[in-house]
Amino acid sequence: MNNISIIGAGIGGLSLANILKQQTLDFSIYESASEIKPVDAGIMMSINAMQIFDKLGLKEKIEHAGNKIHGITITDESLKNISKTRILELEKKYNSCNVAIHRASLQKILAENIGLEKIQTGHKLLQIEKKNNYHVTFENGNTVESKIVFGADGIQSKVRNQILQTGTIRNARSKMLAWLG
Ligand SMILES: Cc1cc2nc3c(=O)[nH]c(=O)nc-3n(C[C@H](O)[C@H](O)[C@H](O)COP(=O)(O)OP(=O)(O)OC[C@H]3O[C@@H](n4cnc5c(N)ncnc54)[C@H](O)[C@@H]3O)c2cc1C
Repeated sequence: MNNISIIGAGIGGLSLANILKQQTLDFSIYESASEIKPVDAGIMMSINAMQIFDKLGLKEKIEHAGNKIHGITITDESLKNISKTRILELEKKYNSCNVAIHRASLQKILAENIGLEKIQTGHKLLQIEKKNNYHVTFENGNTVESKIVFGADGIQSKVRNQILQTGTIRNARSKMLAWLG
Protein backbone atom coordinates (compact mmCIF):
# COMPACT_ATOMS: atom_id res chain seq x y z
CA MET A 1 0.00 0.00 0.00
CA ASN A 2 1.17 3.55 -0.74
CA ASN A 3 1.09 6.30 1.82
CA ILE A 4 0.83 8.99 -0.83
CA SER A 5 -0.08 8.74 -4.52
CA ILE A 6 0.02 11.63 -6.98
CA ILE A 7 -2.04 11.31 -10.16
CA GLY A 8 -0.40 13.29 -12.98
CA ALA A 9 3.21 14.26 -13.66
CA GLY A 10 2.63 17.76 -15.03
CA ILE A 11 4.19 20.84 -13.46
CA GLY A 12 1.74 20.62 -10.53
CA GLY A 13 2.34 16.95 -9.72
CA LEU A 14 6.11 17.23 -10.13
CA SER A 15 6.32 20.37 -7.95
CA LEU A 16 4.29 18.66 -5.23
CA ALA A 17 6.55 15.59 -5.47
CA ASN A 18 9.61 17.79 -4.90
CA ILE A 19 8.00 19.25 -1.77
CA LEU A 20 7.16 15.77 -0.43
CA LYS A 21 10.71 14.64 -1.14
CA GLN A 22 12.08 17.60 0.79
CA GLN A 23 9.86 16.64 3.73
CA THR A 24 11.21 13.04 3.42
CA LEU A 25 7.70 11.71 2.76
CA ASP A 26 7.39 8.67 0.52
CA PHE A 27 5.20 8.95 -2.58
CA SER A 28 4.54 7.50 -6.03
CA ILE A 29 3.45 9.41 -9.13
CA TYR A 30 1.17 7.85 -11.74
CA GLU A 31 1.14 9.41 -15.21
CA SER A 32 -1.10 8.39 -18.10
CA ALA A 33 1.45 9.16 -20.85
CA SER A 34 3.75 6.32 -21.82
CA GLU A 35 6.73 8.63 -21.38
CA ILE A 36 7.36 12.07 -19.89
CA LYS A 37 7.00 14.01 -23.12
CA PRO A 38 6.68 17.70 -22.28
CA VAL A 39 4.70 20.20 -24.32
CA ASP A 40 6.99 21.93 -26.81
CA ALA A 41 6.28 25.47 -25.60
CA GLY A 42 7.52 28.08 -23.18
CA ILE A 43 6.13 29.06 -19.80
CA MET A 44 6.78 31.97 -17.48
CA MET A 45 7.32 31.11 -13.84
CA SER A 46 6.29 34.13 -11.82
CA ILE A 47 7.95 35.40 -8.67
CA ASN A 48 5.59 33.49 -6.37
CA ALA A 49 6.40 30.20 -8.13
CA MET A 50 10.13 31.01 -8.09
CA GLN A 51 9.97 31.52 -4.31
CA ILE A 52 8.71 27.94 -3.97
CA PHE A 53 11.51 26.68 -6.21
CA ASP A 54 13.94 28.70 -4.07
CA LYS A 55 12.75 26.83 -0.97
CA LEU A 56 13.25 23.57 -2.88
CA GLY A 57 16.83 24.54 -3.80
CA LEU A 58 15.94 24.63 -7.52
CA LYS A 59 15.83 28.39 -8.16
CA GLU A 60 19.34 28.75 -9.62
CA LYS A 61 18.95 25.67 -11.84
CA ILE A 62 15.69 27.04 -13.27
CA GLU A 63 17.14 30.55 -13.72
CA HIS A 64 20.14 29.13 -15.59
CA ALA A 65 17.94 27.00 -17.86
CA GLY A 66 15.65 29.96 -18.65
CA ASN A 67 15.69 33.74 -19.02
CA LYS A 68 14.94 36.29 -16.30
CA ILE A 69 12.06 38.62 -17.25
CA HIS A 70 12.14 42.07 -15.61
CA GLY A 71 9.05 43.57 -17.26
CA ILE A 72 5.89 42.42 -19.02
CA THR A 73 4.05 44.32 -21.72
CA ILE A 74 0.69 43.15 -23.01
CA THR A 75 -0.20 44.60 -26.41
CA ASP A 76 -2.94 44.33 -28.99
CA GLU A 77 -2.39 42.86 -32.47
CA SER A 78 -0.65 46.03 -33.69
CA LEU A 79 1.72 46.00 -30.66
CA LYS A 80 -0.08 48.96 -29.05
CA ASN A 81 0.41 48.74 -25.29
CA ILE A 82 -2.53 47.57 -23.18
CA SER A 83 -0.61 47.22 -19.94
CA LYS A 84 2.97 47.41 -18.78
CA THR A 85 4.24 45.83 -15.58
CA ARG A 86 7.65 46.59 -14.15
CA ILE A 87 8.61 43.95 -11.65
CA LEU A 88 11.95 45.24 -10.38
CA GLU A 89 10.48 46.27 -7.01
CA LEU A 90 8.95 42.84 -6.49
CA GLU A 91 12.25 41.22 -7.44
CA LYS A 92 14.01 43.17 -4.70
CA LYS A 93 11.28 42.52 -2.15
CA TYR A 94 11.13 38.77 -2.70
CA ASN A 95 14.68 38.15 -3.92
CA SER A 96 13.31 36.27 -6.96
CA CYS A 97 12.73 37.00 -10.66
CA ASN A 98 10.10 35.95 -13.17
CA VAL A 99 11.71 33.31 -15.37
CA ALA A 100 10.67 32.35 -18.90
CA ILE A 101 11.66 28.75 -19.56
CA HIS A 102 10.99 25.98 -22.05
CA ARG A 103 8.43 23.62 -20.48
CA ALA A 104 10.62 20.63 -21.34
CA SER A 105 13.57 22.09 -19.39
CA LEU A 106 11.43 22.86 -16.34
CA GLN A 107 9.86 19.40 -16.29
CA LYS A 108 13.29 17.79 -16.71
CA ILE A 109 14.67 19.68 -13.69
CA LEU A 110 11.62 18.81 -11.55
CA ALA A 111 11.52 15.13 -12.63
CA GLU A 112 15.25 14.52 -12.29
CA ASN A 113 15.33 16.03 -8.80
CA ILE A 114 12.81 13.48 -7.50
CA GLY A 115 14.28 10.61 -9.53
CA LEU A 116 12.60 9.25 -12.67
CA GLU A 117 12.00 5.90 -10.91
CA LYS A 118 9.34 7.61 -8.76
CA ILE A 119 7.17 8.19 -11.86
CA GLN A 120 5.08 5.26 -13.11
CA THR A 121 4.24 6.10 -16.71
CA GLY A 122 1.50 4.31 -18.69
CA HIS A 123 -0.80 4.55 -15.66
CA LYS A 124 -4.02 6.28 -16.71
CA LEU A 125 -6.41 6.62 -13.78
CA LEU A 126 -9.72 4.95 -14.57
CA GLN A 127 -11.47 4.91 -11.24
CA ILE A 128 -10.88 6.16 -7.71
CA GLU A 129 -13.01 5.03 -4.79
CA LYS A 130 -12.91 6.08 -1.15
CA LYS A 131 -13.26 3.18 1.27
CA ASN A 132 -11.07 3.10 4.42
CA ASN A 133 -8.29 4.17 2.07
CA TYR A 134 -8.41 5.21 -1.56
CA HIS A 135 -8.61 2.40 -4.12
CA VAL A 136 -7.18 3.49 -7.45
CA THR A 137 -7.64 1.52 -10.67
CA PHE A 138 -5.65 2.25 -13.83
CA GLU A 139 -6.53 1.53 -17.44
CA ASN A 140 -3.62 -0.95 -17.68
CA GLY A 141 -5.32 -3.16 -15.07
CA ASN A 142 -3.04 -2.24 -12.15
CA THR A 143 -4.61 -1.20 -8.85
CA VAL A 144 -3.16 0.68 -5.89
CA GLU A 145 -4.43 1.30 -2.37
CA SER A 146 -3.29 4.60 -0.91
CA LYS A 147 -3.85 6.54 2.29
CA ILE A 148 -3.64 9.91 0.51
CA VAL A 149 -4.24 10.71 -3.16
CA PHE A 150 -3.37 14.05 -4.75
CA GLY A 151 -5.20 14.82 -7.99
CA ALA A 152 -2.73 16.64 -10.25
CA ASP A 153 -4.34 15.31 -13.40
CA GLY A 154 -5.05 18.62 -15.09
CA ILE A 155 -8.12 20.50 -16.20
CA GLN A 156 -10.20 17.36 -16.98
CA SER A 157 -9.23 15.84 -13.59
CA LYS A 158 -10.81 12.42 -12.99
CA VAL A 159 -9.83 12.66 -9.31
CA ARG A 160 -11.82 15.87 -8.91
CA ASN A 161 -14.77 14.59 -10.95
CA GLN A 162 -15.04 11.26 -9.12
CA ILE A 163 -14.23 12.32 -5.54
CA LEU A 164 -15.48 15.89 -5.30
CA GLN A 165 -18.01 15.68 -8.16
CA THR A 166 -17.71 19.40 -8.70
CA GLY A 167 -15.93 21.91 -10.91
CA THR A 168 -17.81 22.55 -14.13
CA ILE A 169 -15.41 23.68 -16.84
CA ARG A 170 -16.36 26.89 -18.63
CA ASN A 171 -14.80 28.67 -21.57
CA ALA A 172 -13.31 31.92 -20.23
CA ARG A 173 -13.22 33.28 -23.83
CA SER A 174 -10.04 35.14 -23.00
CA LYS A 175 -7.22 35.88 -25.42
CA MET A 176 -3.55 36.33 -24.69
CA LEU A 177 -2.23 38.84 -27.17
CA ALA A 178 1.49 39.11 -26.56
CA TRP A 179 4.15 38.61 -23.93
CA LEU A 180 7.31 40.67 -24.36
CA GLY A 181 10.31 40.61 -22.04
C1 LIG B 1 -1.47 28.61 -23.75
C2 LIG B 1 -1.14 28.52 -22.26
C3 LIG B 1 -0.14 29.33 -21.73
C4 LIG B 1 0.19 29.28 -20.38
N1 LIG B 1 1.19 30.05 -19.88
C5 LIG B 1 1.50 29.99 -18.57
C6 LIG B 1 2.57 30.78 -18.06
O1 LIG B 1 3.24 31.51 -18.78
N2 LIG B 1 2.84 30.68 -16.71
C7 LIG B 1 2.13 29.85 -15.89
O2 LIG B 1 2.45 29.79 -14.68
N3 LIG B 1 1.11 29.07 -16.37
C8 LIG B 1 0.79 29.14 -17.67
N4 LIG B 1 -0.24 28.36 -18.15
C9 LIG B 1 -0.96 27.49 -17.23
C10 LIG B 1 -0.15 26.23 -16.93
O3 LIG B 1 0.22 25.60 -18.14
C11 LIG B 1 -0.99 25.27 -16.10
O4 LIG B 1 -1.46 25.95 -14.95
C12 LIG B 1 -0.19 24.07 -15.67
O5 LIG B 1 0.34 23.38 -16.78
C13 LIG B 1 -1.08 23.13 -14.88
O6 LIG B 1 -0.26 22.09 -14.44
P1 LIG B 1 -0.90 20.77 -13.88
O7 LIG B 1 0.25 19.90 -13.46
O8 LIG B 1 -1.94 21.10 -12.87
O9 LIG B 1 -1.70 20.14 -15.11
P2 LIG B 1 -1.16 19.56 -16.49
O10 LIG B 1 0.04 20.31 -16.96
O11 LIG B 1 -2.35 19.47 -17.38
O12 LIG B 1 -0.66 18.10 -16.11
C14 LIG B 1 -1.57 17.06 -15.82
C15 LIG B 1 -0.84 15.74 -15.98
O13 LIG B 1 -1.72 14.71 -15.60
C16 LIG B 1 -1.72 13.69 -16.59
N5 LIG B 1 -3.05 13.05 -16.55
C17 LIG B 1 -4.21 13.55 -17.01
N6 LIG B 1 -5.21 12.69 -16.81
C18 LIG B 1 -4.66 11.61 -16.19
C19 LIG B 1 -5.19 10.36 -15.73
N7 LIG B 1 -6.49 10.05 -15.88
N8 LIG B 1 -4.35 9.47 -15.14
C20 LIG B 1 -3.01 9.78 -14.98
N9 LIG B 1 -2.47 10.93 -15.42
C21 LIG B 1 -3.28 11.84 -16.01
C22 LIG B 1 -1.43 14.41 -17.89
O14 LIG B 1 -0.89 13.53 -18.88
C23 LIG B 1 -0.42 15.47 -17.44
O15 LIG B 1 0.90 14.99 -17.47
C24 LIG B 1 -0.55 28.40 -19.52
C25 LIG B 1 -1.56 27.58 -20.05
C26 LIG B 1 -1.85 27.63 -21.41
C27 LIG B 1 -2.94 26.75 -21.96
